[in-house]
Amino acid sequence: MSAYKLLIGGKLVPGATTLNVINPATEEGLAVAPRADRAQLDQAVAAAKAAFPAWSAKPIRERGALLVKLADGMEARQAELARLLTEEQGKPLPGAMGEIAAAIGRIRYFATLDLPSKVLKEDATQKVVEQHRPLGVVAAITAWNVPIILLALKIAPALLAGNTVVVKPAPTTPLTTLKFGELCAKILPPGVINIIVDQNDLGSALTSHPDVAKVAFTGSTATGKKVMESVTGTLKRLTLELGGNDAAILLDDIDPKEVAPKLFASATFISGQACIAIKRIYVHESQYDEVCDELGRLARETVVDDGLKQGTQMGPLQNKAQFERVKGFIEDARKNGKIVAGGKALNRKGYFISPTIVRDIGDDTRLVREEQFGPVLPVLRYSEVDDAVARANDSDYGLGGSIWSKDPERAFAIAEKIDSGTVWINKHLDMQPDLPFRGAKQSGIGTEQSQEGLEEYTQAKIINMAKAPA
Ligand code: NAD
Repeated sequence: MSAYKLLIGGKLVPGATTLNVINPATEEGLAVAPRADRAQLDQAVAAAKAAFPAWSAKPIRERGALLVKLADGMEARQAELARLLTEEQGKPLPGAMGEIAAAIGRIRYFATLDLPSKVLKEDATQKVVEQHRPLGVVAAITAWNVPIILLALKIAPALLAGNTVVVKPAPTTPLTTLKFGELCAKILPPGVINIIVDQNDLGSALTSHPDVAKVAFTGSTATGKKVMESVTGTLKRLTLELGGNDAAILLDDIDPKEVAPKLFASATFISGQACIAIKRIYVHESQYDEVCDELGRLARETVVDDGLKQGTQMGPLQNKAQFERVKGFIEDARKNGKIVAGGKALNRKGYFISPTIVRDIGDDTRLVREEQFGPVLPVLRYSEVDDAVARANDSDYGLGGSIWSKDPERAFAIAEKIDSGTVWINKHLDMQPDLPFRGAKQSGIGTEQSQEGLEEYTQAKIINMAKAPA
């Protein structure tokens, strides 16, 4: 029997079967999670569909007030949720506390927004009004790196706009999401949120389900393409937040000692398993050696250990498949570049990799071209900044990127040439809920966060009225 339950139609229920969730710091079983079958998926969608008329008819401020209650409930259980998140995801406990806090902040932010009708045109003969109507049932599918932030970023705007939701977390990190389901069962009307867990086998049944109106998906670009194919049958609305290969370009005026710690932190956040982590660094030749040395020093000083242990700066990779994948990137780097620091898995139980800095590596290697999603960072040399920009843009990805300089205006002019959804200057990874977040190229479609992100959970509708009586 599992201590965790699915949430279907307001009831916490066991799964048709179960799956084992592993603690990545120990490789031992952490918990047995309920696993839904196809019938339970259909029940979850049917419950969401049944709850939609009453939920969408509630005034938006009432829906917002219930979101605030959810945020309050998370806050009251923050320490418990954070500990569980560390145990299933691997990130150090302060980072897990930060993730729960960020999720709460995002729910509270969306709870304050509104979807007012807008008069687009009015004169003596006509009045044209635009309204935003909810879509229906939203499928919210999340990845295993920041499962609770991704959950909040989807359910909060979906619910505020008047939709109902079926959530499906990644099979290796379902537990904190299921605990969140306990709060939903107490606070929300039955069926407004439903949570099912699969073993990577129900995603396409959910995204192609005829009663699902929109899919909000975060995951890899490869899976995102399958999701896009699966929604064509019913032309569902779609938001895809996918992979990235963010480049940081250091202009020739930076101070390596000042900048290196910021770069290192942005590259190794969640052990490098962040869509917007720095994944490549381009350094001017005049400072190349010094930057590599600084990054190498920081990597060697990093405390890598179980995220529950005080003082741990970097936890394990989240799952065995990713651990094996990242070891493959290290082997590629060893053949094609020079490893300055790290370069190995720790000799202990758990999916631990020491932070790895790689220099003198070519642009056409796997580590530079693909998304490593791990703590293995290539540092590349350039002599002309236009060449660095061209190489940074030579990627199928376009999620984020950053330019670093003592002269922010000079950096701004370079930032304008970068093909990505976000470019930061003298920072990276800075996510604010009221700023739109989007991926360019194969990093995604649509917007999350901000008023624009909220409106993606609606159908904009025009009412065009002739003032003359019929
Ligand atoms: P993944 O694509 O393997 O899985 C993501 C989710 O999709 C999981 O819940 C999985 O069970 C589900 N899934 C699997 N097959 C499916 C299918 N056919 N149809 C529908 N759903 C399916 O990704 P992952 O390995 O869990 O996550 C890592 C990736 O996520 C990285 O590429 C990372 O960059 C990306 N990511 C992007 C963002 C962003 O906002 N752009 C944020 C976090 C992570």
